[in-house]
Amino acid sequence: MEYFSGHLGKLAEELASLPGIGAKSAGRLAYHIIGLPEEKVQRLANSIMAAKSNVKYCKECFMLTDAETCPICKDAARDHCTIMVVENTRDLGAYEKTGKYHGVYHVLHGAISPMLGIGPADIKLKELMERLRGDVDEVIIATNSSLEGETTAMYISKLIKPAGIKVSRIASGVPVGGDLEYIDEVTLLRALEGRVQI
Ligand code: ZN
Repeated sequence: MEYFSGHLGKLAEELASLPGIGAKSAGRLAYHIIGLPEEKVQRLANSIMAAKSNVKYCKECFMLTDAETCPICKDAARDHCTIMVVENTRDLGAYEKTGKYHGVYHVLHGAISPMLGIGPADIKLKELMERLRGDVDEVIIATNSSLEGETTAMYISKLIKPAGIKVSRIASGVPVGGDLEYIDEVTLLRALEGRVQI
């Protein structure tokens, strides 16, 4: 798309660098933003900056949150002896939406992928092992059923088993290569309830 303003072109270029936004959509968004009242644009810009500067990792489970400790880890009514391991905060959100899981989580922020050069030290695994020194009955591995997710699940189970903690893997009702985030709640629940000890 040709822009007759360098600033507009730059805005479109920045938007196009975001995932899922092609050059055409970026152009549409850029024109839309320019057409908005100034205070609305200011609010948008402010909320991006505020999110970037204030969102941090929960010091226990590493989900993205605003406080040192997230609302789930702070909740005394949750079962802190059951930890569900997920790849990212979006997957955690998917399980939370079912409203049927009452344990706590651990967010790895990625999965082991030899192909992409992502090793165990690149995800929050060491932090998980540290948590397991506390009072933990079960670790439920809910990484995606992609090659990376499975590799990560195997790795974690081998690491934890010697500690005598029960390790389970969510059932394979989740399609291979399936991104947890896009799977409906019923399937997620079935996968959780049908988890098998590994
Ligand atoms: Zn937390």
